[in-house]
Amino acid sequence: MTKSSTRNTIQYLRNLPALRFHQNWCGLSMSKPRIAVIGAGLIGLSTAVCISETIPTCSVTIISDEFTPNTTSDVAAGMLIPHTYPGTPIYQQKQWFKETFDYLFAINNSSEALSAGISLVSGWQIFKTSSNAELPFWSDIVLGFRAMTEMELKKFPQYRFGQAFTTLKCDCPSYLLWLEKRLKGNGGEVHAKRIANLWDLQNNYDIVVNCTGIGSRELIGDLKIYPVRGQVLKVHAPWLNHFIRDGDGLSYIYPGIHNVTLGGTREKDSWNLSPDPNISKDIFDKCCALEPSLQKAQDIKVRVGLRPSRLAVRLQKEILVQGEKKLPVVHNYGHGSGGFSMHWGAAKKAARLVGECIASLQDSLPKAKL
Ligand code: FAD
Repeated sequence: MTKSSTRNTIQYLRNLPALRFHQNWCGLSMSKPRIAVIGAGLIGLSTAVCISETIPTCSVTIISDEFTPNTTSDVAAGMLIPHTYPGTPIYQQKQWFKETFDYLFAINNSSEALSAGISLVSGWQIFKTSSNAELPFWSDIVLGFRAMTEMELKKFPQYRFGQAFTTLKCDCPSYLLWLEKRLKGNGGEVHAKRIANLWDLQNNYDIVVNCTGIGSRELIGDLKIYPVRGQVLKVHAPWLNHFIRDGDGLSYIYPGIHNVTLGGTREKDSWNLSPDPNISKDIFDKCCALEPSLQKAQDIKVRVGLRPSRLAVRLQKEILVQGEKKLPVVHNYGHGSGGFSMHWGAAKKAARLVGECIASLQDSLPKAKL
């Protein structure tokens, strides 16, 4: 793709109603505010892109010790099926999910869909008893949500009830690369470095955005964040095009553009990144019970990731103070099992908070002679 066609596409995406950006929320007078975004997983990349597009007068630099394909975000299935955060109000989760769905749906409907790795996928969420099946808060955001018919349920003799709907799926490494290219196309920079202390950034940046996921436990000492280990298989089974998800959330088959993700596990407080062959066999057997044609799947790869889990996503401003010095920080981490489902809505909020920090710095300019 040429530079000018990339520019045209970005302009096209910007003009889509679902992607219309809130520009100029703060009349900047700082010449070029310097923003450092720590973390190059899904949350860091999407937040950096969103800042670079909503506040085009600032410079955005991502600093991270790991990049795709070595982040938790690369392991994910990338399905837009939200997980519920008990400590975040439902109206807030619904708004973030809707903003994310609308944004990815617009990309899915553009010529960028393949390079961004975005696809629409229909399928079934099935339950052994209908009493376990609540109407999810996101049922009116995904497309065509309805109860499964008797005919559809015949495929799953062990199950009594099900919900059918169409949602979106990200091919995670493709989407991360696409976001990185978009950031660079907007003039953003990317540096490989581990950050041990946020104050180390104070000399070179005006505002720091913390998107370090599970790394926040060590970097800022947040003991409320904990890992939920997930092991999945990525297999080649191109004949599959419908997703199947057991309502317990533990067994799932998610077909994507390049492979099918079979899952999975949720092991709270486990930091173990080594694949467990017994778990792989268990996942494969359970998925074959749901979809027997998977016996013919090929090229089976095992991946493990640590979901950065927290009762509530941390999306807020904090002003760090050290003597006379101040460092504005915007936190955006703790998306647990639902980062893909919420990321763009969360990135928009983080970008608004960065805008507020810039406005405060600007207000303090005459006094502090910054
Ligand atoms: P990460 O991807 O871990 O990125 C954190 C970044 O910060 C990394 O680049 C890291 O190197 C960097 N970093 C950390 N500390 C430092 C430091 N001190 N200095 C510099 N850099 C640092 N979500 C969905 O919505 N749908 C799904 O279908 C789905 N499936 C999943 C399946 C599995 C098996 C797993 C494990 C997760 C799944 N998720 C899913 C959840 C999703 O993957 C996460 O919510 C999301 O990836 C979190 O993104 P992140 O950017 O916060 O974290």
